[in-house]
Amino acid sequence: MQTVILLTKAALKKAEEIYGPYAVQPAPQYTLFQAKKPGVTITAYQSGKVMFQGPENEKEAAIWANNIDRSKTAASSVSGKTPAKPASKNKHNESALPTDFKDWGVIGSDEVGAGAYFGPLTTAAVYVSRDQVPKLRAMGFADSKTLTDDKIVKLAPYIIENLPYHIVNLTPDFYNQKQQSGQNVVAMKALSHNFAHNKVIAKLNGEKPDGMLIDQFVQESSYNRYLQKNKQVKAPVKAYFKTKGEQEHVAVAAASVLARYVELQTMEQLSKEAGMKLPIGAGKEADRVAAQIMKSGKNLGHFAKLHFANTEKAKKLL
Ligand code: MN
Repeated sequence: MQTVILLTKAALKKAEEIYGPYAVQPAPQYTLFQAKKPGVTITAYQSGKVMFQGPENEKEAAIWANNIDRSKTAASSVSGKTPAKPASKNKHNESALPTDFKDWGVIGSDEVGAGAYFGPLTTAAVYVSRDQVPKLRAMGFADSKTLTDDKIVKLAPYIIENLPYHIVNLTPDFYNQKQQSGQNVVAMKALSHNFAHNKVIAKLNGEKPDGMLIDQFVQESSYNRYLQKNKQVKAPVKAYFKTKGEQEHVAVAAASVLARYVELQTMEQLSKEAGMKLPIGAGKEADRVAAQIMKSGKNLGHFAKLHFANTEKAKKLL
């Protein structure tokens, strides 16, 4: 029960946008995105291959009949075959960084919470000037995923007290409202990063950063498109895009730590309001706690990202 088609590049972008509201977060490894609609799961790969699975697969695939890429020799419509995983490591067309980039004065930005059912989507941008770089490195700033909560809580105040920064904290209420009105999560991230960049630049009193580094979550072309579509002014400093950006510049590590710090605080606040400890992630424990919140009569949308599959799973536990 599946159909695989090969879409043109333009159609693939359009599909990413259209299926955004149904996107599985985070996207499974090696995929461009995956979306679940009633009766069909859509999985897209960077190569342009899109797989439709489920009882509605043919009907859904037919929507794209005029967008099939026939320029490639690969069969444009294959039934019953799973496309090979693309070999490309560089799935986002990452920026090439100048050799001494690590020592530049950079605005770094990163977001956390996109894959977590409970809590906010939090983006932070931090400016680390050239003379601050060695200090932050020595303090042990690194990807927040590799640091304990204790370490996060120790490091983040240094940023807040000493560096220009800005945080965009999309609470579940706001996030759900945007998501339900058709804004996809990738667009929300792009807008959050850019908003934070502009705010940081405004705090620099004319000092010009050497560049900006975005911990990459989307192709640069799509990033720009989301800003244009939402009539946002792109921050006027050269932006570089790199996955694992925290390894390329300590400013991204600092942003990652700060975003995580704010996420932790928000989770604590929301846990208080819920009267129970909200778990990190999107596993079974999240389903169980969501069911409890629903039973208590509280508004689940105040605590959780409702479009995650956890919501339906939680309802089944009632
Ligand atoms: Mn990131």
